[in-house]
Amino acid sequence: MKTRRFQTTATSPGIAIGKTYCIKHERNNYSRYWIKNSDIELEITRLKDAIKKSKDQLDKIQTKICRFQGTDQIEIIESHRLFLQDDMLVADTIKQINTYKINAEWALDKILAQLRLSFLNMDEDYFRERQQDIDYVGRRIMDNLMGTPILSFNNLPNEDLILVVHDISPAEVASISKNNIKGFIMECGGKTSHTAIVARALDIPALFGMSHFMDKIAHNETIILDGVRGVAIASPLKRERVQYERTQEKYHAFENELMKDIHIPTRTKDNHRIYINGNMEILEEIPSLLSHGAEGIGLYRTEYLFLNRLDEPSEEEQYNSYVNVLTKLEQKVVTIRTVDLGGDKMPLTQVYDSQINPALGLRGIRLCLKETLMFRTQLRALLRASVHGNMQILFPMISCMEEIIQIKSIINDIKTELDDQNIPYAPNIPLGIMIEVPSAVAMATEFAKEVDFFSIGTNDLTQYAMAMDRTNEYIAHLHNPYEPSLLKMIKATVDAAEKEQIPVSVCGELAGDPLAIPILIGFGIKALSMNPVSIPKAKHILREITLPDSKRYVKRLLKLNTAHCVHKYLKKKVPKLLPDDFKKLKFV
Ligand code: PEP
Ligand code: MG
Repeated sequence: MKTRRFQTTATSPGIAIGKTYCIKHERNNYSRYWIKNSDIELEITRLKDAIKKSKDQLDKIQTKICRFQGTDQIEIIESHRLFLQDDMLVADTIKQINTYKINAEWALDKILAQLRLSFLNMDEDYFRERQQDIDYVGRRIMDNLMGTPILSFNNLPNEDLILVVHDISPAEVASISKNNIKGFIMECGGKTSHTAIVARALDIPALFGMSHFMDKIAHNETIILDGVRGVAIASPLKRERVQYERTQEKYHAFENELMKDIHIPTRTKDNHRIYINGNMEILEEIPSLLSHGAEGIGLYRTEYLFLNRLDEPSEEEQYNSYVNVLTKLEQKVVTIRTVDLGGDKMPLTQVYDSQINPALGLRGIRLCLKETLMFRTQLRALLRASVHGNMQILFPMISCMEEIIQIKSIINDIKTELDDQNIPYAPNIPLGIMIEVPSAVAMATEFAKEVDFFSIGTNDLTQYAMAMDRTNEYIAHLHNPYEPSLLKMIKATVDAAEKEQIPVSVCGELAGDPLAIPILIGFGIKALSMNPVSIPKAKHILREITLPDSKRYVKRLLKLNTAHCVHKYLKKKVPKLLPDDFKKLKFV
């Protein structure tokens, strides 16, 4: 086949060479249309067929589970099979098709929404179980109606695969085994979508935002994925392949070189101490964080405990996870963020997954303050775990003072509850907030009086400052952290924190960006938190720069008024500070 080249923004670094493995699976894109009287029967038959297919699939899963797993799983599948026969689901969907003359997908979606609502006022556990059934079974029928194959990564052939998908959730990426795939390409999504963040955390080279890529390549076609330059080469020429194999070797050699001084505390060339922490999503990342030289955890995204499952983690389960992290980190700081669910991370247990504008909806702290039982369970688990290490708690998506007041009041309640039960907790757990919404920047001075630390989430701050959805590939170009507006917001936040003398760190993707590091230091930031693979590079860069140099850059940068000029300036200046290898391998 002819060689073809594709360019996009680099999503997760590294070079992978392998065969494409395409999984076609588009979700939630069903069409709504009215049907003629003469088509009603046809539509009902489609619905019945999809239900039958779903039932057959569940039968198969059940037979498989019977051989390998316990009774709980069998009961779950059994309840789903029963749900497929539920009159409220089947008969009512048929009634919708008959009465309103609408297509089966539309009718099914309406009934699923009604069913979710009908369980709202019921007893908590029962309600939760039914919600899960509705979501899980509903999706399966919808996929079957639309002819979408059920997404599964279980039976990937064990070769050098480059997985090509339309859109998968962060939870699904977390479930992929790295042994199976060398890299992956996604048609949707931008660099800072949560799926991209997980890919980087798992050290899987990836390219996102490759619109209609599956129409342009063949299944099982040889492909080079260059996650450093943002390039994919399908059916490469022999010499290109050889060249890339050499680059891959050099890349690995240089990465090994960077690992040499990884455990020495980081100081700039003029001896200013900068703390480099790691971001984590799942417990399995801890060994990688420690081996890459993280001095602590600057962001533990606990929402991954809630995703990819049909129930919510209990207080005990959460407690065990938090104790596990704190113990493994010994006395290093562990910043645990309370669940930031919603947006592109809505768990199966919640009803709110059909909001028109999820990123502007019930997300982060907003969901927690609505679902207070879930929030209280997490806070109780955190407070109980706090005696096992050096913990601080971070709250996501804070946009107004009322939220801080409510959080503090809930924490006080829980402390009283624990006191009454003689359950110990650390006396002075630092409480911090993410600064990731423009209103929080505007209120930073006031907020700094109320909390113990700030952590700047540049991924969301860019999304909300630019009014752009960070998962939308059509406007990915607007998600540019070099936007002068964003730089000004970071500066304002750091100034407010300095004034009130509270620590401020950056934990968005910008923290690990080699070009941005000197600027963040120039703003006065003394702690950065990033995915483990970015740490060695970041430490190396920090050791090459001085504070006066960084401050000079900042002064100049703040006078520029386009992201393009900012980027151009950094591209010219920063590499001058760095060793040759950085430039050759396009590390900056
Ligand atoms: C951010 O928004 O920058 C951040 C670190 O949080 P998340 O990416 O989890 O939304
Ligand atoms: Mg965020």
